[in-house]
Amino acid sequence: MSSAPSTAAVSTASDESSVSQQRLVRTEIPGPRSREIHERRRAVVPPGVHSVLPVYIERAHDAILVDVDGNQIIDVCGGIGVMTVGHTDDRVVAAAADQLGRVTHTLFTMTPYEPYVEVAEHLAKHVPGSTVAAPYKTLLMNSGAEAVENGVKIARKYTGRPGVAVLEHAYHGRTLLTSSMNHKAAPYALGYGPRVGDVYKAPNSYPLHDGLSGAEAAARTIAFLEKQAGAADLACLVVEPIQGEGGFIVPADGFLPALADWCRENGVVFIADEVQAGMARTGTVFSIEQFGVQPDIVLSAKGIAGGLPLAGITGRAEIMDASQPGGLGGTFGGNPVSCAAAVAVFEQIEELDLLAEAQRIERVFGAGLRELQQRFPAIAEVRGRGAMLAIELTRPGTLEPDADLVARVMDEAAQRGVLLLSSGVHNQAIRFLPSLKMSDELIADVLSVLEEAFTAAS
Ligand code: PMP
Repeated sequence: MSSAPSTAAVSTASDESSVSQQRLVRTEIPGPRSREIHERRRAVVPPGVHSVLPVYIERAHDAILVDVDGNQIIDVCGGIGVMTVGHTDDRVVAAAADQLGRVTHTLFTMTPYEPYVEVAEHLAKHVPGSTVAAPYKTLLMNSGAEAVENGVKIARKYTGRPGVAVLEHAYHGRTLLTSSMNHKAAPYALGYGPRVGDVYKAPNSYPLHDGLSGAEAAARTIAFLEKQAGAADLACLVVEPIQGEGGFIVPADGFLPALADWCRENGVVFIADEVQAGMARTGTVFSIEQFGVQPDIVLSAKGIAGGLPLAGITGRAEIMDASQPGGLGGTFGGNPVSCAAAVAVFEQIEELDLLAEAQRIERVFGAGLRELQQRFPAIAEVRGRGAMLAIELTRPGTLEPDADLVARVMDEAAQRGVLLLSSGVHNQAIRFLPSLKMSDELIADVLSVLEEAFTAAS
């Protein structure tokens, strides 16, 4: 954390907010006030709750975080893919505030309320496979991990089978079941006691490293599932269509359709974990749509409610209806304030054509990253879809991950007021999850900082 403070401004100041959409570095990052709070935190918060950049945020709007030292940081992570419509989005704030003053909580399983039904209707409209005549049904919970837990539970109830298959490089959460489903033992499962049984980790498709076509990779995955899991014991296959924590791995063409076909033929519920890739981020409301697959269950969370906690488990009626009354739910699941915020997000996806905005970001940001790749051979690949983009860094001329360079680039960027995040089981990638409203000017500024960061770090 050494480089001198610098300032840079991009003139896209928002009229609606007192937070101008510009980068502004006033102090070292983290600054003195952040460091002071961090010391207090060390006394009362355990180190297991780690922060990537311990800069304490006082306010935020759209793509800009303002810290307690007055630094304005461009947020290219959005709380890991949550702030799809931007921080403190005016419509989300208004809808949530209005709902907060009406009904904050009743518990949907005690006395229900309309916004829950509205969210389920929006999901039924957008999940591939759901039709007006036969809509998919939705259970609402609070977090991505809870969505995965419930997806598995519902699939087990429907099939009467125990087995859960996942892919290598997957990430599904930090609860006991989901931490047993993740690729990485450390830090998620290591030392936390017995892992859940009947979870099978099948090979994924990782074109940069395996060189396999989609058909070849699927044949390998299916052979594993048949031999090591046994189709007749499998309740579900849980798949991130584009793997998030795994490094924004886009599978080879044909991989996901072949797996979905195999699931259908074998009575295995195909669950698309769209917690990170969903909610318009990749240029379609759900990324699985781009692979031509109709999943049995789709899981959403993160971006669904503009920053409020909410998660959806949306599935074919036959599967969702298999659970007995009272078997599903939880005190805060589908909280009315979160639901009202989610409706404001869905309305904007449609009215502001945010799918086109995600495609714009892929064009503008993607082109800039590919230019950067020409200059810095450590960038082995630029990949992703829409506003879910990543660069994988390797030692030049090899495919060996270069996690040190990833860390140095992130640090140099942070010093210049750009918040980045790593990804991948070896921390070999830098991922970009900007707000779909991030302007071209701000993207250009991020790219110029990346260039400086690579130059300084190389
Ligand atoms: N599934 C995927 C694909 C995720 O990316 C995440 C979070 N990174 C989760 C599940 C877990 O979500 P949460 O942190 O809300 O429990």
